[in-house]
Amino acid sequence: MTLKISWMSNTPTFAAQAAKAELHCHTDALLDATMLRELGPAALRAELSPDELEGMCPATSWDHWITNYGTRVDAVMTRQLFLATLDRHIRRLRTQNVVYTDLFVSGWLLLREPEEKSIAVFRAARETIEAAGEGKIRVGLMVGLGRGPRERAEKQFARVMALRREGLICGVAIAADESACTIESIHDLLDKARETRMGIEIHAGEQLGPECVREAIEWGRPDRLGHGLAAFTDETLVEEIIRLGIHVEFCPTSNAILTPYKDLRNHPLVRARELGLSYSINTDDPAPFTCSMNSEFARLEWELGFGPADFDRILRQSLAAGFAGR
Ligand SMILES: [Zn+2]
Repeated sequence: MTLKISWMSNTPTFAAQAAKAELHCHTDALLDATMLRELGPAALRAELSPDELEGMCPATSWDHWITNYGTRVDAVMTRQLFLATLDRHIRRLRTQNVVYTDLFVSGWLLLREPEEKSIAVFRAARETIEAAGEGKIRVGLMVGLGRGPRERAEKQFARVMALRREGLICGVAIAADESACTIESIHDLLDKARETRMGIEIHAGEQLGPECVREAIEWGRPDRLGHGLAAFTDETLVEEIIRLGIHVEFCPTSNAILTPYKDLRNHPLVRARELGLSYSINTDDPAPFTCSMNSEFARLEWELGFGPADFDRILRQSLAAGFAGR
C-alpha cells in the first residue's frame, strides 16, 4: 500500500487527460524520426534517414539546432513532406487531447516560390489540417517570420497580405533572432497587418533583456508575446503586460534548453500563475526539443504540483488568446 501511494504521488495523473490548447509551435520543427518512419518509403526518399534525424535530437543549443536539425530538415523539406508532416502532427495533437492550436508556418514558403504557389501551399495546408482534424481540433494558421533586414520584411509582408486577402491566415508571428532588427523598424508593416484584424505575436525576451520586450510592446502592440521571459525581471513591465491584457506563451522545455531557466521552479510561469496573468504552455519546436504537449503538462504536474484547476485555467486563457476565426 505504501509503495502504491508513493508511486502514485510521483506519476502525473491529470496531464495526459487534460484538454489543451497550443499557441506557439513552428511547423518547420515538427518532423521527427518516428514521423519519418511512419511516413514510409515516399518520405524516406528524402536524403535524411530517421536514424540520422534521431541523432540530432534533442538540440542542445541554438548553434546545435541551426547547424544540425535546422539545416538538414530545411534542405530536404518539400511541399509534399510539409503537408504529410502537418497531417501527422494534427493527428498526434488529437491523441494528446489538444483541442486548439495556432501554427506558425515559416517564411521559407513565402519567398522561395511565386505568390500563387505559396497561396496554393497554404490552401493545401488548410485542407490537410481539416482532413486530419476531423472537426476535433480547431487550428489557426499563422505566418512565422524571422526578424531581419527591412527589405526582406517588406517582401514577406506583401506575401502575408496576399495570404490574408485569400482568407488563409489569421495572424503573424515575429520570431527570433531578437537582435536582427527592432520592432520599430517594421512597425508600419505590422500596423497594416493589424488593420486587417490579424492577430500579432512577437517573440521577445527570450534572448535579450526587458528592454527588448518593452520595445516590442511599444512598437508592435502585440496580442501575444512569445516567451517574454525577461519581462519578469522588471516589475513595472509585468504590470504593463497585465494592464494591456497581453497573453504570454511559455515553452518550458525550449526555455530550459535555450535560456538560463533550467529549473521549472524558477521559471516565470510560476510568477504568472501567482499574478493571474494570461499564459499558455507550448512546445515551440517539438521535434528538435523532443517534447510534446503531454510531456510539457506532465512536467507542470510533476515538478510544480499543477492540478486540474490549473490546467483548466490555462486552457480557458489559451482559448481566449487563440487567433483562429479572426
Ligand atoms: Zn518560437
